[in-house]
Amino acid sequence: MDLKNFRQPDLIKKIVRDIADYDTDVNFMEVCGTHTMAIGHWGIRRLLPDNIRLISGPGCPVCVTPISVIDELIKLPEVTIATFGDLLRVPGTSETLEHARGRGAKIVTVYSPLDALEIAEKEEVIFVGIGFETTIPGVAYTILEASRKKITTFSVLPALKLVPPALDALLSDPETEIHGLILPGHVSVITGTDAYEFIPQKYQIGGVVAGFEPLDILLGIKKLLENREQPQIINEYSRVVTATGNQKAQSIISELFAVADGLWRGLGWIPASALSIREEYSRFDAQKKYGLQMEDIADNPGCSCGDVLKGKIIPLECPLFAQTCLPENPVGPCMVSSEGSCAAYYKYER
Ligand code: SF4
Repeated sequence: MDLKNFRQPDLIKKIVRDIADYDTDVNFMEVCGTHTMAIGHWGIRRLLPDNIRLISGPGCPVCVTPISVIDELIKLPEVTIATFGDLLRVPGTSETLEHARGRGAKIVTVYSPLDALEIAEKEEVIFVGIGFETTIPGVAYTILEASRKKITTFSVLPALKLVPPALDALLSDPETEIHGLILPGHVSVITGTDAYEFIPQKYQIGGVVAGFEPLDILLGIKKLLENREQPQIINEYSRVVTATGNQKAQSIISELFAVADGLWRGLGWIPASALSIREEYSRFDAQKKYGLQMEDIADNPGCSCGDVLKGKIIPLECPLFAQTCLPENPVGPCMVSSEGSCAAYYKYER
């Protein structure tokens, strides 16, 4: 596939003109952190008229990982913690995993859960399972591999989240004002577009599953505007997303995990928005193995990440933004991750 087809300047200009014909005042939320970065990278906000606002949502896995995950892992200096790199710099209650590593804690960065399994062949390891539907099949497969190889030194701290229930919670909040959703492309490869059909039915707003190129995003916005009178779920990313999703991935997810209530940093507990490891595989559940407690701990004082993740404010409205909160010294998780809204605004929208 030639990406140039999705970056054609003449076509982009035409769609931008079409969008400018709409004079309705709307807030469209891009749910996914990769979209937030793509929108910043391609300067899409600056192409839109003032009446069409893009607000960022909760789709940055690192941003929504509870403080408890960091705090509880820091209490286990005798076990190797294997995690994706972004999580290292996320503030816990008193320090980050990176600080703990500086004090001698055994914390390593991995690029895949299978890397953690390899470490477990030599020593006791906990893999920190963060992420959405896109990441979950890989975690499930790794637990199956651990089971097949009879590895007893491997466990997963499940902090895996489901996007559709979080959107349901967000849209039911009377304080949010969202008129359409740009739905996540990667997550939708696994879930399929059918997972979002409740949105127009329950909330009478539309959603568009979009890719990450400028034309994908602009076409998505145009389709949301065109369909405002008859809201529906539109698949603009049909080159990889189907209505029913990846059923093989869905099947391995449901073999390993059961749906559970989920704790989201900044958003609190959301019903049926997370996964717990099934009883049959509970020997790989780090939360049970080490008695880790997950509590809703308040964020650092002054950090408005919760409101940013709900789309109630944009990062520029946080008084700490680019003052005391900087990418090299983040106060909250939204400034840490490469997919965090505050990091994206710092890089592209100042
Ligand atoms: Fe939190 Fe920093 Fe974002 Fe403010 S700018 S909401 S302190 S992460």
